Amino acid sequence: MEIAVLGGGAAGFFSAISCKQHHPDYKVVLYEKSTKLLSKVKVSGGGRCNVTHACYNISQLVKRYPRGEKLLRKSFEIFKTTDTVKWFEERGVKLKTEEDGRMFPVTDNSQTIIDCLMNEVEKLGVLVKTDSPVIEIERSKNGFLLRFSEDNEKKVDKVIIATGGSPKPEGFNWLAELGHRIEKPVPSLFTFNIPNNDITSLMGVVVENAEVWIEKTKLNQQGPVLITHWGLSGPAVLKLSAFGARTLNEMNYNFKVHVNWLGDLNEENARDKIEEELKLSNLKKINNTKPFEIPNRLWLYLLDKSGIKEETRWSELKKENRNRLINFLTNYEFDVKGKTTFKEEFVTCGGVSLADVNMQTMESKVCSGMYFAGEVLDIDGITGGFNFQAAWTTGFIAGRIR
Ligand SMILES: Cc1cc2nc3c(=O)[nH]c(=O)nc-3n(C[C@H](O)[C@H](O)[C@H](O)COP(=O)(O)OP(=O)(O)OC[C@H]3O[C@@H](n4cnc5c(N)ncnc54)[C@H](O)[C@@H]3O)c2cc1C
Repeated sequence: MEIAVLGGGAAGFFSAISCKQHHPDYKVVLYEKSTKLLSKVKVSGGGRCNVTHACYNISQLVKRYPRGEKLLRKSFEIFKTTDTVKWFEERGVKLKTEEDGRMFPVTDNSQTIIDCLMNEVEKLGVLVKTDSPVIEIERSKNGFLLRFSEDNEKKVDKVIIATGGSPKPEGFNWLAELGHRIEKPVPSLFTFNIPNNDITSLMGVVVENAEVWIEKTKLNQQGPVLITHWGLSGPAVLKLSAFGARTLNEMNYNFKVHVNWLGDLNEENARDKIEEELKLSNLKKINNTKPFEIPNRLWLYLLDKSGIKEETRWSELKKENRNRLINFLTNYEFDVKGKTTFKEEFVTCGGVSLADVNMQTMESKVCSGMYFAGEVLDIDGITGGFNFQAAWTTGFIAGRIR
């Protein structure tokens, strides 16, 4: 039996390794179109590779996947985050967990992961062919015919497709021609551009717990927000971009975003806190007595926007300025015009529809003998190691070849 794995990324390597582990007698050949293997692993997580996330409960885990969610449950029951940690540890790669749950190799170097996968492929006898783009796949009797060029074809018994995401729908034509439905690819995990707004003068300021929502949609997230020199970023914004990937694409990345810098406190709570402060710090200067847990620079910025002079004392605060301050604290509105790629990690939403794939085997429901793994599928997670986890899980399952 000869198995072809197409794609030399995380999902392709994991599929090929799993295939050889489950079927040592099969011939497994991995074809990579470029000259480089595991190139995304190399640059991932800022060169450290965020391998997975310390989220060990499947019900919680699936919530981190805007595309995939419920259907992924079946796949995670076969191979989940704890299996990833164990798999790498058994091969000498220890992972550490950061405060926010992201897991990295203790070496803080993505090369550790690459070395581990390369060693495994070599040890198990997977053949790896670079510079081998597959340009067409045809069904043949009892198998597939892979075409590399006009006069270069290869017959294989089964094939695992791990060719990654494609920003253009045409990138999936060859899989659509075999009968698969394709969900339109659009970017996920990006930051918001807010041009011509002086909030950018606060670049570098992080608000640990803010609430962010998008007007005219139900999109809403809470968490850290980072102000950058082009607009807004940080986990809450990235999550919004992931869960809103399709909606925001339809809005042409032109929308209004609102921020409650106080996170858990609503307008009424903010008003109460200010009333309290008024009593407590009556004669103190407002700029020196901040009743909220937000960065000082942001507090001074919001006071200025509310028309409150730096030297103002709480007793001198006018009702009109106080109302404006409460509004800016709990409902600051920005015009977003465009997006910027988040360089640490970005993915494509869309790809081969999960409706056409058996999530317990990763075999195509419309083309038997063809399996899928990784970002080629309509699966994507939020930032934090969830995208690699999907690649490991689907790769492991696809490689079992059922
Ligand atoms: C800068 C960056 C940083 C990231 N950091 C993280 C992170 O830290 N943690 C995380 O969880 N996720 C991260 N991600 C997302 C993660 O890298 C991807 O989700 C993951 O690499 C997908 O793996 P894959 O194997 O499915 O696809 P890819 O890694 O894209 O691999 C697909 C491979 O298939 C090859 N190929 C394509 N077409 C053909 C063909 N016709 N024939 C043969 N070969 C073909 C491609 O050349 C490519 O090598 C990051 C992404 C980026 C861009």
